Amino acid sequence: MAKYVYDFTEGNKDLKDLLGGKGANLAEMTNLGLPVPPGFTITSQACRHYLAEGSVPDGLEAEVAEHLLALESAMGKKLGQADDPLLVSVRSGAKFSMPGMMETVLNIGLNDESVHGLAKQAGGNDRFAWDSYRRLIQMFGKTVQGIDGELFEHALESLKGSRQDTDLSAEELQRLVETYKGIVREQTGEDFPADPREQLRLAVMAVFDSWNAPRAVLYRRQERIPTDLGTAVNIVAMVFGNLGEDSGTGVAFTRDPGSGHQGIYGDYLQNAQGEDVVAGIRNTIPLQELERLDKNSYDELLQIMEKLENHYRDLCDIEFTIERGKLWMLQTRVGKRTAAAAFRIATQLVDQGLITLDEAVTRVSGDQLAQLMFPRFSTEGERKLITKGMNASPGAAVGKAVFSSERAVELAAAGEDVILVRRETNPDDLAGMIAARGVLTSRGGKTSHAAVVARGMGKTCVCGAEELEVSTAERRFTAPGGITVGEGDIISVDGTTGEVFLGEMPVVDSAVVEYFEGSEPADELVRAVDRIMRHADAARRLGVRANADNPEDAARAVRFGAEGIGLCRTEHMFLGDRRQLVEDLVLAADADERQAALDALEPLQKSDFIGIFEAMDGRPVTIRLIDPPLHEFLPDLVELSVKVAKGDASDKDRTLLAAVKRLHEQNPMLGLRGVRLGLVIPGLFAMQVRAIADAARAVPGARPEIMIPLVAAVQELEAVREEAVAILAEDGVDALIGTMIETPRAALTAGQVAEAAQFFSFGTNDLTQMTWGFSRDDVEASFFSRYLEMGVFGVSPFETLDRDGVGRLVRIAVEEGRKTRPDLKLGICGEHGGDPESVHFCHEAGLDYVSCSPFRIPVARLEAGRAALTGDSSDTR
Ligand code: ADP
Ligand code: MG
Ligand code: MG
Repeated sequence: MAKYVYDFTEGNKDLKDLLGGKGANLAEMTNLGLPVPPGFTITSQACRHYLAEGSVPDGLEAEVAEHLLALESAMGKKLGQADDPLLVSVRSGAKFSMPGMMETVLNIGLNDESVHGLAKQAGGNDRFAWDSYRRLIQMFGKTVQGIDGELFEHALESLKGSRQDTDLSAEELQRLVETYKGIVREQTGEDFPADPREQLRLAVMAVFDSWNAPRAVLYRRQERIPTDLGTAVNIVAMVFGNLGEDSGTGVAFTRDPGSGHQGIYGDYLQNAQGEDVVAGIRNTIPLQELERLDKNSYDELLQIMEKLENHYRDLCDIEFTIERGKLWMLQTRVGKRTAAAAFRIATQLVDQGLITLDEAVTRVSGDQLAQLMFPRFSTEGERKLITKGMNASPGAAVGKAVFSSERAVELAAAGEDVILVRRETNPDDLAGMIAARGVLTSRGGKTSHAAVVARGMGKTCVCGAEELEVSTAERRFTAPGGITVGEGDIISVDGTTGEVFLGEMPVVDSAVVEYFEGSEPADELVRAVDRIMRHADAARRLGVRANADNPEDAARAVRFGAEGIGLCRTEHMFLGDRRQLVEDLVLAADADERQAALDALEPLQKSDFIGIFEAMDGRPVTIRLIDPPLHEFLPDLVELSVKVAKGDASDKDRTLLAAVKRLHEQNPMLGLRGVRLGLVIPGLFAMQVRAIADAARAVPGARPEIMIPLVAAVQELEAVREEAVAILAEDGVDALIGTMIETPRAALTAGQVAEAAQFFSFGTNDLTQMTWGFSRDDVEASFFSRYLEMGVFGVSPFETLDRDGVGRLVRIAVEEGRKTRPDLKLGICGEHGGDPESVHFCHEAGLDYVSCSPFRIPVARLEAGRAALTGDSSDTR
């Protein structure tokens, strides 16, 4: 029978799938001999069973009872026993950290009797006991019974007035408990459950259910966390930070998660419990000040943090509580960090001898690198600095100030850039944070909800800008110097420095982009990037090429590390003032007129290719012959019809209209385009091949590769190929001739197609459209969000290559193509070529290179290195 419950002494950090991150790491710390309150973990497998079947698995209750008994005997107390109660917390904890997204209930086991026992046990500290009890009802009411948390908040606020929660007396807290119980009765029609075991049972199920809470679902979608993992549940003996001034609770990082620098980073709050620190109910003190309050605990904590960093060989974040001078560890995990910190920490750990450079490459991601390539604010010009807060998550964001999540979503949907301004954020602000360019809060530190979530999303965030008075109701904030910013006013937020500016600030390139452009590494961060990129380049098996179709992009691509061009589109060579020539081509009355139009186009194409060959300086250039339907180059059908109908059209307009009508297609994506054009319009492809050959002759060392789009059958390719080979031979030019694999039929008959192709390049945009039967422009806007919600896919297949379907076709084509032609060159040139997870797929599928837009090249290089070093594609986060 399955084992559903693990004592902390039974688990370890590698059991995250089963025990969740929190449970696995609590077990790890327990086994390291650190002071962790005893407890046990119910597995995520039990949760999955519960979510699927609607009931807990057989045997779970008995197993929990057994572990509870062991916990009780270890603690020498019984759960909720009247005179000396054991209290426990019931804590969610999934494989991937989802800060604040799911539920935790503290102080389970309190009721009208045991509250007195707790007070007695604490040396007659009635205040503490009633404070713990009111917290239980509040958390239980909100998370387990689904009561609006505001109701409890309001009751607390009106009792407190302008005082702090710590100023409330035992009597007042006792009254608050009565008020809370009244709220529970009113809202649920039932009494707050007094039976401790019933409390425990209900809390466990509530944690299971919280996996599917809307905000958790939204967070998973945003972070690309699979929807079917479920959460584990941790039952932990309570320790108390709310016993008085010699107690407290805190959070800490072993390094600065913003910059990566070593030092002491954390927040501490005296006489407090649980979420008080992150919720910003009172102002926390910096962790350093704990030294003055409680030197023993402080020293022990620092020792433990060092031990944890050396053990995990990475930045850790921790949650701890001090109960009357005794330190307890309540959580640790490898901490989230900003992109810059990730690169710095990785190389620092190498220098400390804790990890190898190989590992350092796997510790950073392409997404983080992409973030470092974001522009930043210019230091030139006028700067209307309003205030400075904490630099919680880097980047330069400009937008209209908005003061609620709803408004942020609304304006963003209307295409506006917005900055979400809040006193502090909570999990209900998630939608607004996703919609916003940046987030600004007036309260909370680097461990506040806003900071943690923004960092996770890579969203610019300044938090704890305490000089700001934020009024959500009046939709405005005031800053020192009498400045008022209302909804819709533009502000600029610098998450790298913490500065907030009035108005729109100009932005400039990032130092990392300047480095890729060729300047010497300017600072520590860029040196870290440089080291990691060099190592990734040395490690990767995949080549990286660029999608570029002009000399400027080609040159940038080379500077960014491209080893060739994987996709040079030729369609832009038919635009602008060349449209006239395309019109002539389409309207040609006979073969002579058509040839004349082609002859006029040829030298123009040739000069385009010369520019690109020169920029690529001997590197291979894959040129795709014209792909879009010709009517895309002609005037618009409706406009022309109107012109003709109005009677102010020329003869030529009328002929054009006839041609446009003739060429009109119901579904151009599946119409006369690609190789079909080459076969139907005599001389078109020949003209392009001749232009390529002539250009190649003009540029010494040029390495053209000619690529035929939209092939479905080898017969199509053979016809085109024959003509091209003849032209190349005439010119004495050597060029590979290959095809795109972008129709399912080409993939399925790759063994035949390879007879006529020296290379394949997977056009995964079209291949995805045709494999799913999606027309991208139509489906993305109309129902993709619904599909994502339903979990049909976790991420759009246009963003990340769909391994199961499209990926299967790729693998078939790779295998069968190579069977026919062992030296077949294989690449990918869809947008997936710059997507981290898709790069890992390409590595595994055995492709020779990926091709992507110039700005994604560093990302692809890094991910190709990571793919080679980890051999594990499952986690590119
Ligand atoms: P989250 O995943 O949202 O961080 P946790 O399960 O870590 O939720 O619980 C939130 C906080 O509650 C913890 O940081 C800790 O301060 C407090 N807490 C949880 N369990 C206990 C316990 N057994 N004793 C004391 N405090 C606890
Ligand atoms: Mg929480
Ligand atoms: Mg926690």
